[in-house]
Amino acid sequence: MTSCPYPELDERIWRNILARANVFHAIRTRLADLFDRTFFSNAVDSTLRQLASIADEFSEIECNTTRAVLATLGEWRSVVARTAEFAHLDESDADLLREIENLLLEALMASDIRVVNPLDETFVKVSRLSGQVYRRYFWRKPAFSLAMEIAHLRPHHSYLDPYAVSALTTSVPNAVVQLVIWPHAFGPPAYAVLPYVLIHECICHVPARQDRVDNGSTFAEGFMDWAAEYFYGLWLSRIDSRLAPMTEQHVAALQQVLTGASNTDASSRRVGRRRASQLVNWISGHDPGLGESRSVAKKAVVKLALTLNTTMAPLDIKDHFVSELNPAPNPVLGERLRAWVDGQLDPADLLQCTCA
Ligand SMILES: [Zn+2]
Repeated sequence: MTSCPYPELDERIWRNILARANVFHAIRTRLADLFDRTFFSNAVDSTLRQLASIADEFSEIECNTTRAVLATLGEWRSVVARTAEFAHLDESDADLLREIENLLLEALMASDIRVVNPLDETFVKVSRLSGQVYRRYFWRKPAFSLAMEIAHLRPHHSYLDPYAVSALTTSVPNAVVQLVIWPHAFGPPAYAVLPYVLIHECICHVPARQDRVDNGSTFAEGFMDWAAEYFYGLWLSRIDSRLAPMTEQHVAALQQVLTGASNTDASSRRVGRRRASQLVNWISGHDPGLGESRSVAKKAVVKLALTLNTTMAPLDIKDHFVSELNPAPNPVLGERLRAWVDGQLDPADLLQCTCA
C-alpha cells in the first residue's frame, strides 16, 4: 500500500487514519476494555492519547504509507509495554495492557505482515451482503470513498458522543458511498460503529429510487434506518465477529445520540423508526395469521421497506405513507395493508393510496 486510493483525501490524513485503523484492528478483541478503562485510569487514558500523537507524528514524517503504519504500531507497542510496568498501575489494567502488547506484537511478527484497510474491507462485506438482499429488487454496486471532516459533525457533542464519523451516498453518475471521518477524534468508538454507518448507507440510500435526498425524510432516514438496523443485527458477526461485541454496545449508544428526544435534528430518524415499529404492531394485532410471530411481522415490514425504497416515486409520497401509519393506518390504508399482507396487493401499490 503506497499511496492514498481516495482522491479527496490528503496523503498525510490517509496515513494517519490508516495507522489508527490498523492498531484498532489488531487489538479489536480488547479494544472495548481499553476504551472503558480510559474513564477510570489516567495511565490507560494517557496510553490511548499517545496513540493519537504517535499516529500524527509518523503520518507527518514518514511519506511511505506502509512504513508510517508499521512505525505507529511499533512505537505504540513500546508505550503500552512501558505503561504496563508502572508501579502503581491497577493489576487488571496491567494485564490488559500486556494482552494488548501481545496482540500488537502478533500483528508485527505475523509471517504475512501486511497493512490492512479495515475500512474498505468492511465496506466490501457490507456492500456484498446488501447486494444479496436487494438482488431481486434493484441494486447497483457502489464504490467506496473516504474523506475528512474538519470538526465533529455535531458541534455541541459531549463525551457521550465520540462518534466523529458519518457517511453520505451520491448516485450520479455512479453510486459512491463516502465515509467521512474527523481524524482528530478517530478513536475506538468511531471505529467500532463503522459497520452500522456503512449498512445504513447501503440499505437506506444506495438503491433508493426517489426524486431527491433529504436528511429530514422520515422514510429515507427513519423507516429505512429501522430496516437497516434489522440487517445490522443479522450481519454483525459475519462482518467482524471479533469486533462485534464492541460494535453492538457503541451502536446502541450512537442510536441514543442520533434518535434522542433532546436532539432536534434527530426527529426524522426517531419518528420514521417508530412508524415502522407501529406497523409491525398493527400487523401483529390485525392479522392473526401473520402476526402470530412478531418476527414474521417484522420480516414483512422489512420487505415492504426494501420494495418501497426501490419503487420510483417522489420522496414526499413515501414520507406521506409513513405519516399515515400514525397512530394506526386509516380505514382505507388499513384495507390496502390487509390486502398486501394477504398477498393480494403489490406493496408498491400501497403508495398509491397516499396523497402528499
Ligand atoms: Zn441516511
